[in-house]
Amino acid sequence: MPYREFDSQAQQRWWRIHSFIDSLDRRYRANRRVGWVYVMRNSAFRDNLLKIGRSTRAPLERATELGASTSVPTDFELIYFVHASDCHEAERAVHRQLAEFRKTPDKEFFCVPLARAIEALDQAADQYPIPYRSRGQWYHLPQFFEPLVLKCLDCGTQNRVKPLLVETKAKCRSCGGGLRF
Ligand SMILES: [Zn+2]
Repeated sequence: MPYREFDSQAQQRWWRIHSFIDSLDRRYRANRRVGWVYVMRNSAFRDNLLKIGRSTRAPLERATELGASTSVPTDFELIYFVHASDCHEAERAVHRQLAEFRKTPDKEFFCVPLARAIEALDQAADQYPIPYRSRGQWYHLPQFFEPLVLKCLDCGTQNRVKPLLVETKAKCRSCGGGLRF
């Protein structure tokens, strides 16, 4: 499945986050474990079999990859990621949270609903935010994926959804109707 095309605002957000993390001086201990925790899916497997791992390199190298709708991901496709001040600990927290869904010990494979996996990544990301200084103030570096409000076409309910790297289906929280985004 091709990756979703992100608008230029999202591409710029990715560029800011990515270049900030890349510019960190890894000689400092505080920066050494800054990195990413990601979710991948192998299209050859069942929908719910996910690979969850970590990396100190950005899961997507460039903002342009977000707009490359023609690229066909092979084997594992990246679906979602967060950054963390300590990607080792963040990954461990996610793996611990999803332990009951683990396929085999010592492996990064989980048979878990995607929404549950994303929730676990989001919690780990909240636990290990990356401090970010802008105009003399400290913030947490924002995550790339942002929820948006999507109106159900059947009943009009506003649903909060999070666009992933690939197109996603979800159910309206009020009528259960299908939402595609
Ligand atoms: Zn609805």
